[in-house]
Amino acid sequence: MYKYIIDHIPKTTPCNRRPGTNMEPETITLHNTGNPNSNAKGERGWLTNGFNKRTASFHIAIDENEAIECLPLNEAAWHAGDGANGPGNRKSIGIEACESGDQVKVWKNAVHLVAKLLYERGWGTDRVRTHQSWSGKNCPRLILPKWKEFIQDIEKQLKELQQSDEKEKARSEASSWAVEAHKWVKEKGISDGTNPKDSVTREQVWVMLYNFFKLVRGGK
Ligand SMILES: [Zn+2]
Repeated sequence: MYKYIIDHIPKTTPCNRRPGTNMEPETITLHNTGNPNSNAKGERGWLTNGFNKRTASFHIAIDENEAIECLPLNEAAWHAGDGANGPGNRKSIGIEACESGDQVKVWKNAVHLVAKLLYERGWGTDRVRTHQSWSGKNCPRLILPKWKEFIQDIEKQLKELQQSDEKEKARSEASSWAVEAHKWVKEKGISDGTNPKDSVTREQVWVMLYNFFKLVRGGK
């Protein structure tokens, strides 16, 4: 698994790399860095490097160990090559998959990251785009030849995220036959209502009995 780091470039970054334009993203766009030697930190560093004269930026760089969010995901970045008003530049979250390190890990991390972003937004894989689809560039050059497989892996990951969420829901919500009582114990302050499916200890029983007793005695 990878670490997710937020390290936004300043709004004053040269070459308009963080224009600050508000963005309501509609898609996610995959890139490869085109540089076999740089990792996520290197890509983040390049955005604020004085030698960099290009108006080009992206939202997240991901390598075998970490993902670095370089621009807020609700601000536009210059990554799609489809012009100042293009839906790639204006409405898509740009992800740079690094070409250095263990590419199996980078692939897995990128799959997870994209699936998580889709899941959080209630989106499907139809929202995942290639840089090529916006401007024709051969990008993401390492992933493109296996694009179908990449999308299939995201589908799988997305299902896993949904299933673990359903499990968590089933664990934290009371069964239908206990809903009324669950509401009642919380309202009356007999139990905090958490972990409805867990077993109970002796001391927890004492506290619930005590709370119930205080309730019926009107606090006396
Ligand atoms: Zn690209």
